[in-house]
Amino acid sequence: MVRSRIDSSTLPLYIDIALGHSPGVREYCTGILALVAKNMRRVECLHLDVAPVYREIIHQTFKAAPAPLLRRFVVKYTACLYRGCSYCERPAAIVMPTVFGGHAPRLTDLQLHNVFFDRKHPYPAFHNVRHLLLFAGTAECVPIELVRRLCPRLEALDIRGRYCVVGHDPIGTYTTRRRPSHELNVILGSMSEASQATALAEIIAVRSKIVSITNPSPLASRTLYHHFSDASNISMAVLITSCSGRHQMHLLFKDPSSLRMRVLVADFARTEYERQSRVIQNILGEMQGLKKRISFLRIDYDQDIAPNMFKLLNGWEGQWSACEAICLTFGNPSISSSITFGIGLDAATFPVLKLLVICCYHPDSPEVKVDTERLDILTTSLRELLSDEGTKNFAMVYTRDLQVALDCARSPVKTLSTSSGESWTWL
Ligand SMILES: [Zn+2]
Repeated sequence: MVRSRIDSSTLPLYIDIALGHSPGVREYCTGILALVAKNMRRVECLHLDVAPVYREIIHQTFKAAPAPLLRRFVVKYTACLYRGCSYCERPAAIVMPTVFGGHAPRLTDLQLHNVFFDRKHPYPAFHNVRHLLLFAGTAECVPIELVRRLCPRLEALDIRGRYCVVGHDPIGTYTTRRRPSHELNVILGSMSEASQATALAEIIAVRSKIVSITNPSPLASRTLYHHFSDASNISMAVLITSCSGRHQMHLLFKDPSSLRMRVLVADFARTEYERQSRVIQNILGEMQGLKKRISFLRIDYDQDIAPNMFKLLNGWEGQWSACEAICLTFGNPSISSSITFGIGLDAATFPVLKLLVICCYHPDSPEVKVDTERLDILTTSLRELLSDEGTKNFAMVYTRDLQVALDCARSPVKTLSTSSGESWTWL
């Protein structure tokens, strides 16, 4: 019934298939992929997550199936459920140069998990790819020059995976001409120092709009810092996220005049707080001199047990001598007054502070009128910490709208000259 319904329609198709490895699935896999290939002319998005043992079926099915409408293609070879399955023991699989008969003119978004390339042949189907995500679950080499050659119009490269290695292509049979890489945005997952160094030398440029590196080496931190050598006005955000037993602390630096963003991520198991703090201290240590150019600081408290960010930032040498606005955002309904006990949040370290914005953006956060008691405790202690015996004053704003909070904090002078906003209130 499914077959006849798919065959009879002319609507575009969005296909997402995950097939594990178990007896009887091979025939089903062959049948369902053949049905997809038959209708490939209508497919706009194709997601395949199959056991590595079926890779040959994928090659055979899609090698002569032109994909004129395909925009997004995702292949993962992860779905085998048997531990130590001898058929799937080499999980990385090759993607064939003949895929889609070389015809996928609209394919701009490509994600390959545990997949590597044939280094000797071109991939005409990938010629228009703009965004490429490579996830390496094994120690496969990701040759940067090869990627740039296969996808000459690439704008964003995202390399993730705990074991991924970025390196030169060992096969030097073709001539490579290095293309200017200033348009390429780059996201690097956790990888070895040598791989980071190669990526820094080969693909990351001062003019890249976005560069993100997880667990950066001292060299990587220093290089990203130098990208801001000409920026006088920088905003900084500290965000903490957690996912499947791991914590990530993101330090985001943005140069508003050129829209460049550099993200340094410390990624650790939840139990490794000490190590995480050390990595953050090391990153900041390589970026001495940046602190006095930061005009806007945002700290997000999204987690129940967020480390004391002010204490952590206090280890960063120097004053926040340009910081005019701080934005504290709470994604957690329990807005915590404990942040004020942190060492380092005081008038001496923030000598030119004009505005403090507090934002509780969690949907269950109470309105300011309801929450006066808790907010009073927080604002009273913040005032004590940040006011310098009445000589220096600063204003406080409360809102539940994250975008409004960021807009207020980014332009403190404009906010201070306003009596009150529609969705924010003075404290
Ligand atoms: Zn298997």
